[in-house]
Amino acid sequence: MKKDKSPFTALLSVAAIAGDILFVLWILYNGINEDFQGTTVEKFSYVTLMGLLAVNAPYLFITATVRNNPTLMRKILSLPLLIAFALMPTLVQAQTIKVTLLGTGTPLPEVDRFGPGTLVEAGGEYFLFDCGRGVSQRLWQKKIQLAKVKKIFLTHLHSDHVVGIPDFWLTGWLPMQYGQRKEPLQIYGPSGTAKMMESLEEAYQADIEGRRPGIRADSGAMVLPKDIGEGIVWDEKGIKITAFLVDHGRMTALGYRFDYAGHSVVISGDTKYSENLVKYAKGTDVLIHEVALARPELVEKSETTRKILSSHISPEVGGTIFSQVNPGLAVYSHILLISTDPGISPPTTDDLIPRTRVNYEGPLVIGEDLMSIEIADTVSVQNFLKDEVN
Ligand SMILES: [Zn+2]
Ligand SMILES: [Zn+2]
Repeated sequence: MKKDKSPFTALLSVAAIAGDILFVLWILYNGINEDFQGTTVEKFSYVTLMGLLAVNAPYLFITATVRNNPTLMRKILSLPLLIAFALMPTLVQAQTIKVTLLGTGTPLPEVDRFGPGTLVEAGGEYFLFDCGRGVSQRLWQKKIQLAKVKKIFLTHLHSDHVVGIPDFWLTGWLPMQYGQRKEPLQIYGPSGTAKMMESLEEAYQADIEGRRPGIRADSGAMVLPKDIGEGIVWDEKGIKITAFLVDHGRMTALGYRFDYAGHSVVISGDTKYSENLVKYAKGTDVLIHEVALARPELVEKSETTRKILSSHISPEVGGTIFSQVNPGLAVYSHILLISTDPGISPPTTDDLIPRTRVNYEGPLVIGEDLMSIEIADTVSVQNFLKDEVN
């Protein structure tokens, strides 16, 4: 049946099939292990490419080996299966929320923990919660172009949560590879956000005006700020973001719940124990909560320390909150290790787990900068691999 086929044709076909298989494997590997983030056009191209590939492989197989073969129909019937298989990474990706802790620190000016910033990716879009010191650097460490992050949601206006905004906003507008924003940056936050952004626009007027003649005059340097309160603040393409009030002393402060494809993540922002947070966070896949701690001798001695602690939570209270919320995974971020007295050393993160375990036995991790958390049917955590840094 195959006697009229030359060895050369057979060899060529085998090589083509092998190449196709390798290519499919390569795409599957990248689709699953790398972050596919792109526009609808990019995603469409990706899907089309995989679709073509899925058609190409069986076509070659059929023409090369089963011509005039009665089992041809069986092979053709297997086509939809191959296409579904090739599309799998995109489908899997589409149902996933990925959280990256860009900064897990506080006002403490250290390099290991930059200021607060949490990146949430879903449906091919990025959402940034808080923009503390170093958010731009951390994004670029992940090779995420700043312009790809188009929306910022602020929990409150304490400087450690907003001090990275001018950097992120203006650096993201530059025409370099890391920037190239061409549309206004959207910023949502509690009352005072719009006023702060208007003042920042004024403060950086010299930079904006100075660069504009040399650079294409576009709207990438503009901001679209909006003051928000409790309620649904984003509801598009299956992504729903709900802001809720938390309790951070004198500051008006919000927490956020992010829902997508039946999964969710809740970000506390800065707060002491908040019943409202427990209500909104109940049953979430991932709860990212702030925490603060100081050595007992410092608490006893220092009024300032007691004051700071009064608008945050201790690990014991964290345990209580996690028990009440019962998340798939509890994560500490914005880890405040208080030291106001040079004679008393600050506590360490080693103190966090045992003190939380007093009230909570479920899954718990201490956040680290660039840790990523994938929320699908299961929740998985990956620390930043140092070899990702070039
Ligand atoms: Zn803070
Ligand atoms: Zn604060």
